[in-house]
Amino acid sequence: MTTIASNLQAVRNAVAAAAAVAGRVPDDITLLAVSKTFPPEAVREAYHAGQTAFGESYVQEALGKIEALRDLPLEWHFIGPIQSNKTRAIAENFAWVHGVDRLKIAERLSAQRPLNLPPLNICLQVNVSGEDSKSGVAPDEAAGLAQAVARLPQLRLRGLMAIPAPSDDVAAQHPPFAQLRKLRDQLNRQGLTLDTLSMGMSHDLAAAVMEGATIVRVGSAIFGER
Ligand SMILES: *Cc1c(COP(=O)(O)O)cnc(C)c1O
Repeated sequence: MTTIASNLQAVRNAVAAAAAVAGRVPDDITLLAVSKTFPPEAVREAYHAGQTAFGESYVQEALGKIEALRDLPLEWHFIGPIQSNKTRAIAENFAWVHGVDRLKIAERLSAQRPLNLPPLNICLQVNVSGEDSKSGVAPDEAAGLAQAVARLPQLRLRGLMAIPAPSDDVAAQHPPFAQLRKLRDQLNRQGLTLDTLSMGMSHDLAAAVMEGATIVRVGSAIFGER
């Protein structure tokens, strides 16, 4: 086995172990392999080890990789910060966008999504407690944004995403993930039908799976340090 193949297997095992602890089915958790900064050959190698969903954070870099890998049936997720002048490239080339935190960006993505493609799957990024970055909608503004995004025709609002501040203390990793799950459940009680919690990275994927993650975004544990 190559390093990428054995790393992938180790990550799948870790997801399955955390799912078992939580009484969850591993199939309910999608592994998104975050390939940013790694070349197309690394993605190809992961594909041959059974991986089909890939996450990218930089539009320019991603477009080159998507083009180089057109021969493979891959599903591309945009997980980086979204600039207004990049929404068309994102709407035309990705299946999912995880970091939407403003209505204006969502409106552009919907308007620019080609009609011959299925609706673009969207997760709203929420700034949960302890989140490092300044991006993400405030939890108490998530409902309003979600209701507005859910009405946009070429988008399909799937759920919520968060990037909590890294912590080596496993106990401290749980609360922000639990907060995101509770917010998702609350929005569903208000009539939305969100099936996705995009949370958990290389260092905290077990806690995220235990708290209900349906997509874990894992880079360095698969491809190596960046
Ligand atoms: C880079 C990145 C990841 C992957 O992080 P690792 O620590 O390498 O697993 C996940 N999510 C987002 C939004 C990222 O930018």
